Amino acid sequence: MTDDCEKSNADGGSDKKAGDVTSALAIDVVGLKKTYQGGGGAPAKEALKGIDLKIRRGSIFGLLGPNGAGKSTTINILAGLVKKSAGRAEVWGFDIDENPRNAKACIGIVPQEIYFDAYFTPREMLEQQAGYYGVARKDRRTDELLELLHLSDKADAYARSLSGGMKRRLLVGKAMVHNPPILVLDEPTAGVDIQLRQQLWNNVRKLNEQGVTIILTTHYLEEAEELCDEIAIINHGEVVACDSTSNLLQQMDEKIIRIRPMEPIGELPATLQTLGAEINDELGVTIRYRPSERELGHILQQVSQSGIGIADLSTEESDLEDIFLQLTGNE
Ligand code: ADP
Ligand code: MG
Repeated sequence: MTDDCEKSNADGGSDKKAGDVTSALAIDVVGLKKTYQGGGGAPAKEALKGIDLKIRRGSIFGLLGPNGAGKSTTINILAGLVKKSAGRAEVWGFDIDENPRNAKACIGIVPQEIYFDAYFTPREMLEQQAGYYGVARKDRRTDELLELLHLSDKADAYARSLSGGMKRRLLVGKAMVHNPPILVLDEPTAGVDIQLRQQLWNNVRKLNEQGVTIILTTHYLEEAEELCDEIAIINHGEVVACDSTSNLLQQMDEKIIRIRPMEPIGELPATLQTLGAEINDELGVTIRYRPSERELGHILQQVSQSGIGIADLSTEESDLEDIFLQLTGNE
């Protein structure tokens, strides 16, 4: 953690100190709003309509949503890059209005676009960034970061000679020079191939194991499911769901079996009624069940014991994609 973060944690400053109940949170956002004033006659855009977010320290938190939902706006406000219109936000216990310097010191952000000067080496870039953040030479972690991100070999090579994956890792390094307790990645794997994606995920996990709170925005559901322990889904500037990934998935813990019987069924046998089966139409029986509670084999056994011959059978399964589409609409 940087001096800024630590010092101010110690001497408090504002009345709400990092260290009290709120400080169990890495991020605390209440009623956050943002309206972009349209320049040159363009209409104003209400990008955030009053969002609340509580992000635990130590978590890997996913901010999910379709394009234009307000993900980048949210994290750019937290990082001090965009000015909010209303609401309150705390970063590591520091109010971004009352304590902007400390709040900024506690967050590192990796932008979506890869942009940097191709004529600097990774080592030079990290040193320059550390200088920008005012990190004293003795406190710099250039070698440690290069090592951590598997860039030691390329420390003194020109950036233009780095692969796409190396460039992304270098951007993570740049965001970490001031040792912030929170690292924000804006769409870290957009347009990145699957192998590289796995590598980046491993890097993110490793940083998290070392105690860094990670916030990432993504529109890849698989990424959120794989990495994040908590997820907020935002749509049109509003939070439409916020829960642990396992709770969200549990909500979707539902499979559907459709059975076409050999003979038309007049009435459902009692055993099937207790399984929650329904007769659809003359075409068949539908059984909804939770795979976490019951096995398909058991259900099929019950069906056959009740004397129903199966002519055909199909199953449907819901996943994060379903709930996402359900919540954000299929636009
Ligand atoms: P996301 O990151 O989820 O794709 P953004 O936060 O970038 O969404 O954008 C949210 C909304 O705000 C979008 O409608 C976008 O067009 C608009 N927006 C973003 N930045 C600006 C800006 N600088 N000026 C005007 N409108 C903007
Ligand atoms: Mg964005």
